[in-house]
Amino acid sequence: MTPSPSLLLLVEDELPIRRFLRTSLAAEGYRLAEAETGEQALRLAAQQPPDLVLLDLGLPDMDGQEVLHRLREWLHAPVIILSARDQEREKIAALDAGADDYVTKPFSTGELLARIRVALRHAAQGGSAESPTYSCGDLRVDLAGHRVFVRDGEVHLTAMEFSLLATMARHAGKVLTHRFLLKEVWGPHQVHETHYLRVFMANLRRKIEVDSAQPRYLLTEQGVGYRLASD
Ligand code: CA
Repeated sequence: MTPSPSLLLLVEDELPIRRFLRTSLAAEGYRLAEAETGEQALRLAAQQPPDLVLLDLGLPDMDGQEVLHRLREWLHAPVIILSARDQEREKIAALDAGADDYVTKPFSTGELLARIRVALRHAAQGGSAESPTYSCGDLRVDLAGHRVFVRDGEVHLTAMEFSLLATMARHAGKVLTHRFLLKEVWGPHQVHETHYLRVFMANLRRKIEVDSAQPRYLLTEQGVGYRLASD
């Protein structure tokens, strides 16, 4: 049986962006619901819960953050933020509030479609539910056994390095903010210590990447955080 096509809810007040996305999303076989305002988005989502939400942060009637908070009270579907270049802080706040990913305007269709595929696949696998192993390319993380393998050998990590890598592996493909990683790995009182992250990320890259200056797995999301590659 073919699964029915995913329903995407596009929340965006700019008509040219809606038009452009309408065409490219339909070409990929997605069903699409469109909302121009926050109120309309909340109403549409409640009428027919979407499989994924594309959410513009600058809406005419209410803050995109508010829409996100209200959706997150009951909706578990992934949310991808459509943000403008000058909305760095809002974008990070949205990711911390439960958005799954973001694209910055102007974005390419290819980029957005790739993000949508990753988010839908992640959701289908049960979101960040524990899976005993993560693997991508030559990297394999055995979460249950606390062991890491790259190419043909085992890599020895410190407990803290493993904790950081395991956290990223449990959310592979998803952008994780500095604040989220610090809270998960170091605890709620260390959320501003971004230099911890930089140091541990450099160590992990040295041990895992072929070229730590051009990472294949541990990717930097400039000004936002990090993402562990998936696939
Ligand atoms: Ca807007």
